[in-house]
Amino acid sequence: MNLANLCIKCGRCLEVCPLFTSTLREDFSPRGKWTILSNSPKLSLSEIKHFSTLCLGCEKCALVCTQGLNFAEYLADFKACSSDWKIFATQKLLQFINSSNLLALGKYKFSSQDKNAYFLLTPSSKKIPFKKAVIFPGCLAKIFPNLEEKLKQLLAALKINIIPTPNWKCCGKPFQLAGLEEQSQNFATHNLNLWEELGKPIIITFCATCFKGLKNSFPQNSILLAENLLKYFSIQTLTNQNILIHQSCHSMDIPLHKIWATLKIISKCCGFGGTFKVLHSKWSKEINNQFWSKIPESSVVFTNCLGCLIELKATLPKNLQVFHWIEKISLKEK
Ligand code: SF4
Ligand code: SF4
Repeated sequence: MNLANLCIKCGRCLEVCPLFTSTLREDFSPRGKWTILSNSPKLSLSEIKHFSTLCLGCEKCALVCTQGLNFAEYLADFKACSSDWKIFATQKLLQFINSSNLLALGKYKFSSQDKNAYFLLTPSSKKIPFKKAVIFPGCLAKIFPNLEEKLKQLLAALKINIIPTPNWKCCGKPFQLAGLEEQSQNFATHNLNLWEELGKPIIITFCATCFKGLKNSFPQNSILLAENLLKYFSIQTLTNQNILIHQSCHSMDIPLHKIWATLKIISKCCGFGGTFKVLHSKWSKEINNQFWSKIPESSVVFTNCLGCLIELKATLPKNLQVFHWIEKISLKEK
């Protein structure tokens, strides 16, 4: 069955698709792409490449689609069936490793950073339903090693026993969206085996993309995005600067407006999108420009996704700051 024929053209996906909202082009929207695909039950390599330039893999359309259509997953299935695509995608990913964003990361790692805390957390009396946990830092945490340390401090303040971090592999999400399904499955099997050996503790990650990736292979209630732990604290903001909490594309189903009740949430896409940025840097830049155009001067943006953190750090305009929120917490004894 050609899934594309299930689209009823209701248009609910239009306002959430970052590519459509940046370009206002119907042929770039999920609805427009499904319309084109309804006449193409199979995709050639050139068509896969074409549609890969037209999707960031954010899966926001899937959250609102009345028909349950997920364009990113549909495209990933086609990619997974094409050996030509896999060779092409691997070459492109290698090119990306040498790109300017990763150079920017190096600067970020070694440059002097603002050491001030922006949030003071005090544990509340709310009961936590688990006593031990293991951290899943994710591949990019090597670039931001302070984040795992901060999460350990946060868990210690809640008196949760922290199991030493095992030798996890990638969460698999970037590989799944790139159509490299076999690698993604191998990572999932490795990670599931480790988790079972550890006695199936709660897994906590501070990266929204890892959170989304792990949910594909682990039982739903075994994975927690670290931001969810904030409901066990009272939060005091320690700055007068304008603060914006970034709801990254892969955390759209987390109620951040409740967690950060007094702060403004911005749910725009950063423009990264993995292979999308590699294949179509022009539109990626356009989406990124639109993100920054919504941020008032002298604001501080706090994100929850390491992919977004990289992109936003690499494109940061003057007079603005961006951090992962966990970098900027300090903890108060109760
Ligand atoms: S996954 Fe994101 S970028 Fe791709 S079609 Fe859906 S909303 Fe648009
Ligand atoms: S929300 Fe779903 S059914 Fe409606 S236009 Fe978009 S893809 Fe089609």
